[in-house]
Amino acid sequence: TPGIRPLVAGNWKMNGTSASLNELVSIGNGFMKGLEAETDALVCVPATLLWRASEILHRTPVKSGGQDCHAKETGAHTGDISAEMLKDAGASAVIVGHSERRTDHGETDADVRAKAEAAWRAGIVAIICIGETQAEREAGQTLDVLSRQIAGSVPHGATHATAVIAYEPVWAIGTGLTPSVDDVAQAHAHIRTELTKLVGDEAGRMRILYGGSVKPSNAGELLAVANVDGALVGGASLKASDFLGIAEAY
Ligand code: PEP
Repeated sequence: TPGIRPLVAGNWKMNGTSASLNELVSIGNGFMKGLEAETDALVCVPATLLWRASEILHRTPVKSGGQDCHAKETGAHTGDISAEMLKDAGASAVIVGHSERRTDHGETDADVRAKAEAAWRAGIVAIICIGETQAEREAGQTLDVLSRQIAGSVPHGATHATAVIAYEPVWAIGTGLTPSVDDVAQAHAHIRTELTKLVGDEAGRMRILYGGSVKPSNAGELLAVANVDGALVGGASLKASDFLGIAEAY
């Protein structure tokens, strides 16, 4: 989208131990060799690695992020992590409402919005995930689902500096399947329109990422689609060469 700097964001999910930090060193080095001129980069690692990831990436253009946060700042919530804690560990962003969180932990749109507001409060960017299931797509409900998720999950008053939208068709995540470029174009244009209803002209400055089975071989065609302002990358973000290959598509 004209005037929007693309973002390539990685999501390591529940993968990675200290041995995986080598990949971050390679990703950081790759972005210092010119890629940073074209695109911003972020890797969302497991919370256990966040502090060390932030230290490794500190001197590179690549930022670190978390994969979920609690809506509250502190309190009696054993096992949870707040947005403020992520920020303290060096995160500049957090994924909220990933379909795996919505499914595995029953997160609702209202929960996701509360988490996005928590990120805003803490001063980190919320990457708000939305997307239809296979059944919803087959029932012709894709655009309605996206409308409902945007209205329910995106904080009112969100800006390009506080929120990024990630369109991730659930059936395309980790499956090797991707929508056609026409379907991606239709979904992203619809998301931009729905965002405009919520935040007005600011919608024209907000990033809308595509996520779901992005790899180096399909990144060029997916990232060239109108209103696609970057990618959220799961499996292919675990290997530096794949992640850098996707960023090179710009
Ligand atoms: C994701 O988890 O956000 C994702 C898009 O996964 P994958 O790239 O593996 O499909």
